Amino acid sequence: MNASIAQASEDTGPQSGVAVSHRTRPRVVIVGGGFAGIAAARALRRTDADVVVIDRRNHHIFQPLLYQVATAVLSPADIAAPIRQLEASQRNLSVVLAEVAGVNLGDRTIEASVPGVGVRTLGFDFLIVATGMRPSYFGSDQFARHAPALKTLGDAETICARILGALECAATTDDEIERSRQMTFVLVGAGPSGVELAASLAHMVKETLRGNFRRINPSECSIVLLDASSRVLPTFDEALSEKVTRRLTSLGIKVMTGVKVENIDEKGVIAGGTPIPSATVLWTAGVAASPLPKMLGGKTDRAGRALVDPFLNIVGAPDVFVVGDAASIMQGDRPVPGVAQAAIQQGRYAGQLIADQLKGRQVRRPFHYFDKGNMAVVGKNYAILERGSLRTSGFLTWLAWAFVHILALPQLQNRLRVWGQWLWSYVTDQRSSRLIPEPPRLPGAEAKGAS
Ligand SMILES: Cc1cc2nc3c(=O)[nH]c(=O)nc-3n(C[C@H](O)[C@H](O)[C@H](O)COP(=O)(O)OP(=O)(O)OC[C@H]3O[C@@H](n4cnc5c(N)ncnc54)[C@H](O)[C@@H]3O)c2cc1C
Repeated sequence: MNASIAQASEDTGPQSGVAVSHRTRPRVVIVGGGFAGIAAARALRRTDADVVVIDRRNHHIFQPLLYQVATAVLSPADIAAPIRQLEASQRNLSVVLAEVAGVNLGDRTIEASVPGVGVRTLGFDFLIVATGMRPSYFGSDQFARHAPALKTLGDAETICARILGALECAATTDDEIERSRQMTFVLVGAGPSGVELAASLAHMVKETLRGNFRRINPSECSIVLLDASSRVLPTFDEALSEKVTRRLTSLGIKVMTGVKVENIDEKGVIAGGTPIPSATVLWTAGVAASPLPKMLGGKTDRAGRALVDPFLNIVGAPDVFVVGDAASIMQGDRPVPGVAQAAIQQGRYAGQLIADQLKGRQVRRPFHYFDKGNMAVVGKNYAILERGSLRTSGFLTWLAWAFVHILALPQLQNRLRVWGQWLWSYVTDQRSSRLIPEPPRLPGAEAKGAS
């Protein structure tokens, strides 16, 4: 058994049935070490309870900057932090690297698949599910093979390698049609991720790679941003959305809205009946909840998020919380958005509620989301902000965006690294992470090749 899970529990393997509690104090199990899960864990740091954070990854990702890893501005380690670090700063907490694959609310247990060990059962007194979202291809899962989504560090590295690889192919081929296909990038989905990725890619091909290829001119690449809705950034104010469209167009990006994608394959995209030959199609369109909220047995919305009550509990289970992107909750007539600040506030709220309950405080106040505003960045020197009735755009907003994001990074080390990289990129227009990882070499392959 994994050492952490052994320390954290009395628990059992698959054959031994339900866990028998010899716990001396309550246990709070948090599934997910993202924004919401970590905020919940921190809110429980002074509580007389054992807190167990389970994640299938060993690192927390600062997703708002993933697009910069995908476009070679930053390296994966710049925007990630090991979740295990929490054990060093919080004495009542253990971290377990495992994928939770089942929940039994009757027995108050979860089933976790621990790599190299197998399935283990872990009991809980309180459960916080903070498992976030995953990409959704709206039922066309076959698109995933040709159009990677952006959700993990691995996705960002794959996208970066595909972009750089396409340019290398373009520089090598003598076939004009193939060269044009390799130099066409299509992004499906013009929400914040699609807009930010497209603008950063435009800057990369026009500025960073200038003069790097003798046989092609990267600034002649086509970047197409597609969306089925009638405008880019549909969750932002319409006037800001129009400004962003103008900005994208000035960066040389072709914005196509109101266009439905009909097919994506190795040749490219068919959208609105028109084929767009492209070797690099990127999916920035849809998300769906991870499967765990459904396993809780309560109601879920169309995207698979748990419908929670005003205390972020699933109905009828006051000790089971769903927080962050995995939860669906309305505030007034608007849904609480799936953004980092909402996830942090929900995680903190659930952790605090449990801490209060363990201290004997019975009065519960419903969750209230405080909207600090939404931002999106559109390349160098330009960002937009919407906060209540305030709307701003331009260079000062971009500076504010940079400042807010530096401060929000998980560790001081991340802040210093990102600050250094940004300064370097800003001054030189260079990007340090332009690496295409080598495919793994099989033992003996070289010897065979040589013979
Ligand atoms: C590309 C991209 C850009 C974004 N940009 C912004 C932005 O600019 N501003 C903003 O506010 N928000 C942004 N977001 C949204 C923001 O990142 C999310 O709202 C936030 O991450 C939600 O936090 P969470 O804790 O609910 O989920 P996550 O941060 O996704 O964390 C979920 C965790 O659960 C783990 N997990 C999932 N299932 C299991 C399981 N079965 N067992 C064990 N572990 C599991 C995952 O490994 C992960 O660590 C962006 C998201 C993406 C993908």
